[in-house]
Amino acid sequence: MRTLVTGGAGFIGSHLVEHLLERGDDVVVLDDMSTGAPRNLIDALVDPHLSVVHGSVLDRDTVSSAVRGVDRVFHLAAAVGVKLIVDRPLASLRVNIHGTENVLDACVEHGASVLVVSTSEIYGKNTADKLDENADRILGSPLLSRWTYAAAKGIDEAFAHGYWLEYGLDVTIVRPFNTVGPRQTGRYGMVVPNLVAQALSGDPLTVYGDGEQTRCFSYVGDVVPALVRLIESDTATGDAFNLGGAEEVSINDLADRVIRVTGSSSSIVHVDYADAYSAGFEDMRRRVPDYSKAASLVGFDPATPLDEIIKRVATEISLRRRRNEVPAYI
Ligand code: UDP
Repeated sequence: MRTLVTGGAGFIGSHLVEHLLERGDDVVVLDDMSTGAPRNLIDALVDPHLSVVHGSVLDRDTVSSAVRGVDRVFHLAAAVGVKLIVDRPLASLRVNIHGTENVLDACVEHGASVLVVSTSEIYGKNTADKLDENADRILGSPLLSRWTYAAAKGIDEAFAHGYWLEYGLDVTIVRPFNTVGPRQTGRYGMVVPNLVAQALSGDPLTVYGDGEQTRCFSYVGDVVPALVRLIESDTATGDAFNLGGAEEVSINDLADRVIRVTGSSSSIVHVDYADAYSAGFEDMRRRVPDYSKAASLVGFDPATPLDEIIKRVATEISLRRRRNEVPAYI
């Protein structure tokens, strides 16, 4: 099996690449190294079954030649991270819309199947007890740049669905809910690496807003095998699947746990949203997945507990710091 991973040098992408190589695939990575980094693939790079193309999904010719000869594509290349999206809405819109269209076109051209990684952000401000795949999108104003990512990913999904409907493209859509784990950068605001890095430095943990907003964190090592099983499942075509964590935690609770698990003596400070983000930000109070569809189809099971996830993230950040690979906040 020959597989292309767009965004393969990123956080989820690099874990997926390692998993595919272990399964015996020949893997091609297409990544522009904007938010990803070659060091994420440091162990995989020695594998002769891996090749890396340094290029953007915005470049149609590059995408077409990367897809030529592959059986399947995992499309993860995207501009992600709330701070990046708020500060650079055009990147969020261009990469996430035109990049995806280029990938889908190339898959039609070369007869590859494709899994498009979308996001739980598309549910927006819907605070349902459990969000199943048919839940409504409730987005804020288009003039708030925070919603550009959710808007763009919604268009991606509509594109993906349309390519299946009109061209018969073999396409699967996945919506991860706050996937976390080693190699996720905190540079663009992601809360788990941010708080863990602060705890390890003995700095105050910055909880934004009142801290009572909740998320369901899922471990990258639980999500990645499900991506592969979903693209290999022939009943999945044209459909969307939630992949998320089982436990709903508030950010206050998360901060307490980070301090306990890392044994840190840091304090916790509450920071106003207005001081944490540029204008154009609006938070989501709650986001809880119903992932029963993926559980029954491919046995998805987010089994790794949050404390264990925090421990693994802390181990990785400590290791990188010992190697002087990253500044205090990765
Ligand atoms: N957050 C926080 N402190 C941080 C970074 C983020 O309190 O240092 C909050 C953020 O405002 C949000 C939650 O944690 O309410 C999750 O943020 P993240 O950007 O990780 O994910 P998303 O909002 O996309 O679910």
